[in-house]
Amino acid sequence: MSLTLLTQDTPPYGVVETKTPTVRRVTAENPSKFTYHGTGTYIVGHGDVVVIDPGPQLDAHRDALVRALEGERVQAILITHCHSDHSPLATWLREYTGAPTIATGPHGDDAWDIGSLPDGALEYVDDDDDDRPSGSVVEESIDRSFRPDVVVGEGDVVASSADSGGGPHWTMRAVPTPGHTSNHCCFALDDGDESSLFTGDHLMGWSTTVIGPPDGDMATYMTSLDVVVARADSVAYPTHGPPVRTPAAFAAELIAHRRDRHAQVLAAVVGGQTTIPDIVVDLYRDVHPRLHKPAASSVLAHLVALVAEGRVTTDHERPRLDGAYRPA
Ligand SMILES: [Zn+2]
Repeated sequence: MSLTLLTQDTPPYGVVETKTPTVRRVTAENPSKFTYHGTGTYIVGHGDVVVIDPGPQLDAHRDALVRALEGERVQAILITHCHSDHSPLATWLREYTGAPTIATGPHGDDAWDIGSLPDGALEYVDDDDDDRPSGSVVEESIDRSFRPDVVVGEGDVVASSADSGGGPHWTMRAVPTPGHTSNHCCFALDDGDESSLFTGDHLMGWSTTVIGPPDGDMATYMTSLDVVVARADSVAYPTHGPPVRTPAAFAAELIAHRRDRHAQVLAAVVGGQTTIPDIVVDLYRDVHPRLHKPAASSVLAHLVALVAEGRVTTDHERPRLDGAYRPA
């Protein structure tokens, strides 16, 4: 089934955008295939505030956060996961404000070696006006140095102080959503108004989420989408792109879309495709070739799940990008 994705005009960079009386957003100028118009750093509250995903190591974004946070008391720095477009400025912001960093943990250790695609496979050389050099790395890079001061789990809460610093009282609750990464966490805002979920890269209106093994895991990602369906928040604020106004329904669409893809990957293997590049070219023929390499990661994620389900076998101990796959 095809997904209905959202689009958004380029937001003003480095400027505070007011989303609701409690929620503000500052967008970093790091647009790319993976970040859409850039990283949205959220500031929740007035007086007492939390900052969600301070963002990439960019001086202009750091300066924008300094301006946006003038006069505010930062209570905590919440990190949805540690990719390089989300967590790196947390180190600076922690020093600058004295606020603790909070996450479900650091980035996971790689559980096994996924190898790499055969030389030249799915290579696409950009000759358009893309901001990246031709043939450059397309994967999201990992901020392995990040270590949270406070490790949170399901339901753990950060709240504004008794006087809220003069602004509205709010609480933020951790909602662990592993899948995109093993440490991915959403944060639910209760400000006595609507129930909002800050979804990081778990649920985005503009794009599906990259699930890259070995840290990314399709089975846990699907379970974490069920969490969003069950919560039925009135709005989701992803790090990239516009708010999603019907997050439960959209999460259900994402689940259906991934189930279709799962069935297609299995059908490709049953139909005789044995390698990831061949499966990608088969299944993603309608998708721009520059997205074929990240698609390989997604196909591997489905194969990991299919091997775990006992429906597909592979020639290595664990599924790899350069592995061969057969029906079980
Ligand atoms: Zn990410």
